[in-house]
Amino acid sequence: MPKIAIIAGAGPAGLTAAYELLKRTDIHPLVCEATGAIGGIAQTYNYKGNRIDIGGHRFFSKSDRVMKWWFNILPLQGAPAADTEELGHEIDYATEVLVEFLCPECAEEGSSGTTVKRPAPDPEQEHDVMLQRPRKSRIFYRKNFFPYPIGITLTVARRLGFLNTFLIGLSYMKSQMFPRKDELYLDAFFVNRFGKRLYETFFKDYTEKVWGIPCGKIKADWGAQRIKGLSLKRAVVHAIKDLLSSDFKKAQEERETSLITRFYYPKFGPGHMWEKVSEQVQACGGEVRMKQKVVGVKWSGVTAGSGQRAVVSDQQSDGSTGSRITSVILEDVKTGTREEIACDYFFSTMPIKHLMKCMDPAPPADVLRVAGGLIYRDFLTVGLLLKELHVEEKGKKPASMVPDNWIYVQEGSVRVGRIQIFNNWSPYMVDDRKNTVWIGLEYFVNEGDELWEKPDDEMAAMGMAEMERIGFARRQDVLDSCILRMPKAYPAYFGTYDELDTIRDFTLTVPNLFLVGRNGMHRYNNQDHSMLTAMTAVDNIVAGSAKNRNIWEVNAERVYHEEKK
Ligand SMILES: Cc1cc2nc3c(=O)[nH]c(=O)nc-3n(C[C@H](O)[C@H](O)[C@H](O)COP(=O)(O)OP(=O)(O)OC[C@H]3O[C@@H](n4cnc5c(N)ncnc54)[C@H](O)[C@@H]3O)c2cc1C
Repeated sequence: MPKIAIIAGAGPAGLTAAYELLKRTDIHPLVCEATGAIGGIAQTYNYKGNRIDIGGHRFFSKSDRVMKWWFNILPLQGAPAADTEELGHEIDYATEVLVEFLCPECAEEGSSGTTVKRPAPDPEQEHDVMLQRPRKSRIFYRKNFFPYPIGITLTVARRLGFLNTFLIGLSYMKSQMFPRKDELYLDAFFVNRFGKRLYETFFKDYTEKVWGIPCGKIKADWGAQRIKGLSLKRAVVHAIKDLLSSDFKKAQEERETSLITRFYYPKFGPGHMWEKVSEQVQACGGEVRMKQKVVGVKWSGVTAGSGQRAVVSDQQSDGSTGSRITSVILEDVKTGTREEIACDYFFSTMPIKHLMKCMDPAPPADVLRVAGGLIYRDFLTVGLLLKELHVEEKGKKPASMVPDNWIYVQEGSVRVGRIQIFNNWSPYMVDDRKNTVWIGLEYFVNEGDELWEKPDDEMAAMGMAEMERIGFARRQDVLDSCILRMPKAYPAYFGTYDELDTIRDFTLTVPNLFLVGRNGMHRYNNQDHSMLTAMTAVDNIVAGSAKNRNIWEVNAERVYHEEKK
């Protein structure tokens, strides 16, 4: 009998674990997904031929291992996409690609064994293609566009007003002369880098929309991960360099365009990647069961006294305690029927809070307390299909389209936080891209709050009204709409987050339990880090190591700490 690994969740981490297990071991992966969608937060929803992400998902990683992995599933384009020429995009095309399939069953015709070398795919002819896309994202504030991340250029100063820019400068100088000593929380972190006035103009409202609580209560770690290496000092140094440059205008233009970089994106959105991976996993003998929720995890914890609660036994020299996950209980979401399946390994990408609650016997009291105090932020997207945009930028004629992938909405007077323009992510995301604009309005919410509970038609009407209020689109141009709700999109860096090590240390005493991914580790992991945690877990199994601490070392470095050093 082959060994069995049960994997909770068919998101990037869970599917990567299944793929790697099939590729490198004889272990049978059984992926259980609570919902009907593949890809978790990185899924793509298809609404009448118009595809929408939960947020836009850029495929970009500093890890070669991850980049190679992605390109193996969806090879890089070898020819222009439908909109490349008309938008004047510059693309680095691939010429030839080498694809390694997971097993002979999913290899395509003409492969020798499981590998094939062939010309790079043409996105106009083939579906399984990774596109290279230019990145552009700006801030839309009081009918003006500002670069993101904010920099101080002459254009920015003009749009902010010169008096305001001067006051921003003064406020920055004050923050440098009298910096806040304790940078534990986000408000102090931002003020020390940008001054109070710039922080209040460009960071405060958006950040508070994202988290729903004041910046003074959010740990600076989040800011440190988001705005690596940024500060007003840097922006000003750049501006002075521009002033000293022999060609000021050119230097300014270069500075603006330096914000435009590139990223990769599957032809049909991130879900395309994960649906392909799921297909390969199943073609090669793995199982992916949909609408099957993990509701119980049995482990051989050493129970104390009454047998109600587990205590962790003394660690042995290899770090293990003799505790093991023995079986998992699945519940069919439609029928409510339950099934207990014995397993040799258990990978969890489900929220830590839920995992700890369904462990049987219950983990130690302190672990349960910390898990119970973890907080999440949920996410709601209003998809609007429009005839065109109507962007009323000050001093310009209204624009029917903008080049951005996404736009930050800083204004505190509206609830929308960001606008995604899916036409600019991939032309293939939109059913009729030439005659319609497909946008996603992003709202940061709490499950069960007023926005979360709002009926779909009212939520769509609210989104539309906000677009009119900020001068971005007109009601009469709306053709259709849809609403997507994603619980637990963001693990919060407040609540009991500070005490997460208590849970980590407990789970490390159970060597066949692997906490991986984003909510699986309660960490702001992107797809690449979520995947790397799953890869590291499989590396450990392959190496026969019972020590899983290295999984927690992925994405552990925080710029905040480095700066302090
Ligand atoms: C707005 C937004 C924008 C983002 N943009 C990017 C980006 O540009 N680039 C990038 O790389 N990353 C981005 N990310 C991050 C990316 O979405 C995550 O890193 C990735 O989806 C995490 O993968 P995961 O498998 O750990 O978790 P998830 O994607 O959360 O998947 C977990 C899965 O487990 C399932 N599940 C939960 N509980 C159970 C249970 N009890 N039983 C069975 N199944 C269960 C869930 O339904 C889900 O399908 C973004 C995230 C957000 C919220």
